Amino acid sequence: MNATTGQNAIPTVKLLIGGEFVESQTTEWREVINPATQQVLARVPLATQAEIDAAVASAKTAFKTWKKTPIGTRARIFLKLQQLIRENMAELAALLTAEQGKTLPDAEGDVFRGLEVVEHAASVGNLQLGELANNVANGVDTYTLLQPLGVCAGITPFNFPAMIPLWMFPMAIATGNTFVLKPSEQDPLVTMRLVELALEAGIPPGVLNVVHGGEATVNAICDHADIKAISFVGSTKVGTHVYNRASLAGKRVQCMMGAKNHAIVLPDAHKEQTLNAIAGAAFGAAGQRCMALPVVVLVGEAQRWIPELVAKAKTLKINAGTEPGTDVGPLISCAARERVESLIERGIADGATLELDGRQPTVPGYESGNFVGPTIFSNVKPGMSIYDIEIFGPVLSLVNADSLDEAIEFINANPNGNGTAIFTQSGAAAHRFQEDIDIGQVGINVPIPVPVPLFSFSGSRASKLGDLGPYGKQVILFYTQTKTVTARWFDDQTAATGLNTTISL
Ligand code: NAD
Repeated sequence: MNATTGQNAIPTVKLLIGGEFVESQTTEWREVINPATQQVLARVPLATQAEIDAAVASAKTAFKTWKKTPIGTRARIFLKLQQLIRENMAELAALLTAEQGKTLPDAEGDVFRGLEVVEHAASVGNLQLGELANNVANGVDTYTLLQPLGVCAGITPFNFPAMIPLWMFPMAIATGNTFVLKPSEQDPLVTMRLVELALEAGIPPGVLNVVHGGEATVNAICDHADIKAISFVGSTKVGTHVYNRASLAGKRVQCMMGAKNHAIVLPDAHKEQTLNAIAGAAFGAAGQRCMALPVVVLVGEAQRWIPELVAKAKTLKINAGTEPGTDVGPLISCAARERVESLIERGIADGATLELDGRQPTVPGYESGNFVGPTIFSNVKPGMSIYDIEIFGPVLSLVNADSLDEAIEFINANPNGNGTAIFTQSGAAAHRFQEDIDIGQVGINVPIPVPVPLFSFSGSRASKLGDLGPYGKQVILFYTQTKTVTARWFDDQTAATGLNTTISL
């Protein structure tokens, strides 16, 4: 309580440097705002260069001992962390909903998908194995060591503030690196709670550090000489900038970026399940998923399903994420709502048919929330803004095609390659789709085919830069340097004869 005003002071989000949560000395702050109510939840600092340097220096120092910490010791921290996340699931989801807006069940899903990566990090001993070839020449073996890189950094977006930080720091740290995390400045609170739990699980001081900020902080990370690798998830524009800038500075970089995911609906699809899946994937999380389905290509007779799809979308409940039964929560910010509304206006002006208008819905009790309801356009074509731009809101564009081949060609002509899905009961059609589509994540009667951590997240064309994806097997290679050792040991007999003092392979 503030003694002079009698009001509760707004909490500040701390930096994590060298194992201590510290108050930033910056003069620049921004507010973390509840998107359903506009309540200011916290103030987040834009860290100073000195604070960024201190975080990186602490990670660099900690690396000296962390890289030599036994595999089992590292893995057991993540066994403990998964337990702590499970025990604190309800609190984490509530925090996430308050700052991000998604429904409580969806927030639990956000945490849960990150938890799965933590579980995977706990088996790092099986994952970080090198290879050995025995007797590649007389008495010579060659083997590989997958050694940690050093200080790695992660830059995360607002839409999955639990899952995406958990894509990054557990696998980087489990493989022996130390880490500097830069969470989204729009919703850093759940990320910080996860970081607290990580320290409670036993991550030593300096192994995990957190700095906050926006463009300037990200640029400082890209330029920092002591950071060896950067994992970025966010928009294509920022990700491309990060990839170019950090690569020029000699870093290893992986950037998972924007999307415009298309589904194909063939007329033989199971109608009820398909329409439910599309409504959930297009409008759930208010369309703010990189794996949302904002474009559906209706093939042939499936074009007659539009009225039923519109009817289904109308049944979705728009409300605050904390209210039971909510399907569509608010957008992250007032600016995001205004942007989505203006794109809907441009869709109308460009000549698409507005089948359902979700602008300015009535949400009793949450009149100031950033709500846009499910919106559907038909007769959408390339060249229209609603098709060409990633809207990142609950706006579905319907496109017509006469055949599967035409639909596949249409999708492959879009610059983005993040996710896609086909709805059909034909195995042959699904097989052709899986073979010919140029997209990272492919769903067959699965609308949001995000891979579990036994696999890696992928992406093609404008949705991804860097050849190795987050989590799964690929990220082990991303966060390690392969060292190849060729070894020969002399026994007394060879030493005595003086043979083979040089090796020719
Ligand atoms: P964003 O690109 O605006 O922000 C991502 C990060 O970059 C944040 O930490 C932010 O602080 C920082 N940033 C923002 N502007 C910057 C600038 N000009 N220079 C340097 N850094 C900057 O993304 P967002 O709005 O937070 O998230 C939504 C985007 O992320 C969508 O495009 C979505 O498709 C994408 N996304 C992709 C994936 C994937 O796996 N492919 C997953 C989730 C989200």
